[in-house]
Amino acid sequence: MTLVPATDRNITRAAMALRDGALVAFPTETVYGLGADATNGEAVAAIFEAKDRPRFNPLIVHVSGLEAARALADFSGRAMELAAAFWPGALTLVLRKLPGCRIADLATAGLDTVALRVPAHPVAQALLEAAEVPIAAPSANRSGRVSPTSAAHVEADLGDRPAFILDSGSCAFGLESTVVDATPQNPRLLRPGAIPRAEIEAVLGFPLAHADPQKGIASPGQIASHYAPRAELRLNASEVRDGESLLAFGDNVPVHNGACVNLSPKGNLREAAARLFAALRELDASGARMIAVMPVPAEGLGEAINDRLKRAAAPRGD
Ligand code: AMP
Ligand code: MG
Repeated sequence: MTLVPATDRNITRAAMALRDGALVAFPTETVYGLGADATNGEAVAAIFEAKDRPRFNPLIVHVSGLEAARALADFSGRAMELAAAFWPGALTLVLRKLPGCRIADLATAGLDTVALRVPAHPVAQALLEAAEVPIAAPSANRSGRVSPTSAAHVEADLGDRPAFILDSGSCAFGLESTVVDATPQNPRLLRPGAIPRAEIEAVLGFPLAHADPQKGIASPGQIASHYAPRAELRLNASEVRDGESLLAFGDNVPVHNGACVNLSPKGNLREAAARLFAALRELDASGARMIAVMPVPAEGLGEAINDRLKRAAAPRGD
């Protein structure tokens, strides 16, 4: 049985499974989330796989409280005030990651920032306490469907993809958290949500800046910049040219002289997804101007991997 009542015993079992890399769907005061250990790249990859998400966008990382949050991110500027006023609750803060931050690259889509939230829901709190790891969790629905506000919605969408669906009735808000980028002096509203803008502005004492349309943000909630390597990417490469480094996949690696990182020698897409952002950074650091990229199969997680590679290969400005 995947769908179980959120009793203490089931929360403990779910927390153990989560620590072992499994997915757990759980209620928050906004919507039901599909959670994975945020420090485990392959567990985070399984979220994208279960949702059939065609893109790697950064996820909200849930933590048990301010202390856990401060171990991960920089709370300078106005972040402390906002956390003190709204946590636990439906406000997500985008903050700069601290050096050595344990969050997997895939959970932040390779960015230097992390979106953190302390949920108020008692089941979410109990799960975080028992798991003792930060939990990355987007809404627990298939990509393109509406966010689930009951355990039955989750089950209808995801079946037995999560190891547990913790049932605790309907969500109070039924609306996503408000996302605020607290990294600039003037915090910016990235996504409107359950906490009204005016309440946040009352705490700050000035208006929230809008996400900057100059930077190509189509709508609130869209992020300003994606991690992109400095080097150019040459996709579907079957050979490595002079001066190129190599992003490999599988065991049939072409001859090369320069740097090479293999996303998954076994050809495992979950492993490849978990390594993708670190691999791009590593090859960038090798100094090569061009990275030859071996083909990655398009099925399952391969769709999101190829989407990221294609956008990294496209002319800049994305
Ligand atoms: P979801 O997890 O589907 O509720 O969506 C998370 C929201 O937070 C999306 O709108 C993301 O674009 C945004 N978000 C998450 N992490 C970051 C980040 N590091 N920088 C900017 N926006 C973020
Ligand atoms: Mg969603």
